[in-house]
Amino acid sequence: MSLVPDLNYQDVLDQIAEEIAALPGRGRSADYIPALAGIDPHRFGMAIADLDGKVYGVGEWQTPFSAQSVTKVFTLALVLARDGAALWEHVGREPSGNPFNSLVQLEYENGIPRNPFINAGALAVTDRLQALTGDAAGTLLEFLRAETGNCEVGFDEEVARSETANGDRNAALAHFMASYGRIRGPVPRLLDHYFRQCSTVLSCADLALATGFLARHGLLADGSRLLTRSEAKQINAVMMTCGTYDAAGDFAYRVGLPGKSGVGGGIIAVVPGRCTLAVWSPGLDERGNSVAGVAALDRFTTLTGLSVF
Ligand code: GLN
Repeated sequence: MSLVPDLNYQDVLDQIAEEIAALPGRGRSADYIPALAGIDPHRFGMAIADLDGKVYGVGEWQTPFSAQSVTKVFTLALVLARDGAALWEHVGREPSGNPFNSLVQLEYENGIPRNPFINAGALAVTDRLQALTGDAAGTLLEFLRAETGNCEVGFDEEVARSETANGDRNAALAHFMASYGRIRGPVPRLLDHYFRQCSTVLSCADLALATGFLARHGLLADGSRLLTRSEAKQINAVMMTCGTYDAAGDFAYRVGLPGKSGVGGGIIAVVPGRCTLAVWSPGLDERGNSVAGVAALDRFTTLTGLSVF
């Protein structure tokens, strides 16, 4: 039951955009990836997709941007779909309480990343996807194009190159896990696929559509099944507890939905059984989450009452 009788997504989006109008521009665009540093933090867009794939939007909801770590949800789903629970032998599912690119936990936890959404865990997931498909980045792209119906979804080679050139920390994470025998393929190839994955360019509309399988309990846009109901529930649970890094507690408190952020300023969120949301505003807080994006999702669940709580 929503708080708003006859909930009209477009009206809700328009109201949110008005209420948070002062926030886009707060925070800073990610500057450790030079190709992202120049993006104006004032930009803002938001979209909602219902279960049938009808999309509503406000602001720059059709503008493509760098999806970054939001893609970690999709690679996780693609691995679970092929390999089921075997993944959890290689990656944990506990919140890390540490920044997304932290190295410290990896050593005292024997090279097993805390969860699939911090960089170490995502590298391990991409390595599994590469082992399972022979082309992790290509498999991701094929999935995204099918779910969005948008064949323009692609990689931003400039961003991928910029990340490669400034990728010492991700390279360190991958090599460190490899030293424990936890990476199957060659590290340089893994980094190549991981950086291309992060550079995927999608709009809020694309992201809301691509996330639909998590609101439809594992069903893809064409009605076929990607994940079991239980696997979809598990991904939503890990998004809730780990999707916004060391701010996941605060995100659950404010928004109350499974969510996943990226340093491009995007965040996706899921109302299971009802709809998906995607928001974009490049100004980040100190934990790497979009300031206006979190506020917009906070307003959405407060106005509509749609939350998992
Ligand atoms: N490509 C970024 C990195 O690996 C992704 C991080 C993020 O979006 N949180 O550092």
